[in-house]
Amino acid sequence: MNEKFILMTGRPVADAIASGVMEDVSRLSDMGVTPKLATLRIGNRADDIAYERAIIKVCRSLNVGTQTCALPGSASEEEMLKKIEELGRDDSVHGILPFRPMPGQISISSLKSALPPAKDVDCIGPAGSAAVFDRSLAGFLPCTAEAVMETMFHYNVPLEGANAVVIGRSMVVGRALALLLLDANCTVTVCHSRTRDIPSIAGGADLLICAIGRAKMIDARYVKAGAVVVDVGINDDGQGGICGDADFESISGVAGAATPVPRGIGAVTSTLIVRNTVRACKRMIG
Ligand code: NAP
Repeated sequence: MNEKFILMTGRPVADAIASGVMEDVSRLSDMGVTPKLATLRIGNRADDIAYERAIIKVCRSLNVGTQTCALPGSASEEEMLKKIEELGRDDSVHGILPFRPMPGQISISSLKSALPPAKDVDCIGPAGSAAVFDRSLAGFLPCTAEAVMETMFHYNVPLEGANAVVIGRSMVVGRALALLLLDANCTVTVCHSRTRDIPSIAGGADLLICAIGRAKMIDARYVKAGAVVVDVGINDDGQGGICGDADFESISGVAGAATPVPRGIGAVTSTLIVRNTVRACKRMIG
């Protein structure tokens, strides 16, 4: 690790966001309203169950209600749609969080069109994608992309005019983030699996975002001295734990600052899902 290296953990960022959420929850409580998030899990995938637990824990800590819905792994698309419709009609539910990926028999496009935009707190449907392009629209931003931005704001990472390289172009993470960085006046380059010579592109970045899903792929060869590295990846480390897309030991010898995995962006993402649920509740009650 270089001497001036700054470790950008997610907890202080999540705590700062949580304190604003708590104020809103208490004001809603004075009006007799409790915001509620419904999670929808299909099957018993270990990572879905772990995510469900983590989200419930954040909701409880912020006095936000939860409703856990679980369908068997063999559930049909019709059963999933029926559940979404039921949650959509339920006025006591303000946010719906379906865990993805869903089993193969369920198409993501039917999930996207079934989710009521007002309750789509993790930006799965088209309203959220539209909001990424046009911030004046009502949809919620994808929480992981927003979590990266909140983390950089919290740690005062200079964004104006910075060269930002995003590796990964998925709709909800890489692509959304590229647009949010553009809004923050960065000059943005997006890399993906067909990009040639990523180390030389990434090596010119003031800000390098890894959203790939490849354990420890990014090492010091990809990082400019003093650059800020934000690691969105959550990968199996092969030892019963998780690791990021960046090889932390290698990059921390060169980077000026970086987020760790675990204890990085994930904690911020969960808190933003709960914040969106509270915002959805406020919008619903006018
Ligand atoms: P995804 O949909 O699988 O997208 C991965 C992206 O990485 C794709 O654009 C892909 O390129 C690119 N890629 C894959 N291998 C590459 C390589 N060798 N070189 C360059 N680019 C490569 O994944 P995602 O949903 O965006 O998630 C990315 C990571 O973030 C995953 O590890 C996921 O678990 C994690 N994640 C974290 C959070 C959080 O809260 N921290 C939330 C969501 C996701 P192509 O488009 O060319 O295939």
